[in-house]
Amino acid sequence: MTAAAAVEREPSERPVCWCCGNTFDEADLSRLGSHPEVGVCAGCAQWLHRRARSSADTGRRTPVAVARGAVATLRGRVMRAGAQDWPLIGPVLRRLDRHLP
Ligand SMILES: [Zn+2]
Repeated sequence: MTAAAAVEREPSERPVCWCCGNTFDEADLSRLGSHPEVGVCAGCAQWLHRRARSSADTGRRTPVAVARGAVATLRGRVMRAGAQDWPLIGPVLRRLDRHLP
């Protein structure tokens, strides 16, 4: 085992989100049931939830599914424009996004 590999396995090292790669406190990660070695942060868990719900909504024509699809489409347009990083409106959009489906 190399010194670098030993350092990577230090128990005191902060855990890393398996999705975005950022470091977090252990309490801020959600672990998978059958694979507890895999942890994701709250932001990535929300992203995964939205992806799973979007996949489940595919083909559904219920009002809720249509509304969620419209929000997802609008979210994609805002992100492609980079509006989430604009001064003034960016923080408002990011805060709003926390409350949208
Ligand atoms: Zn993450």
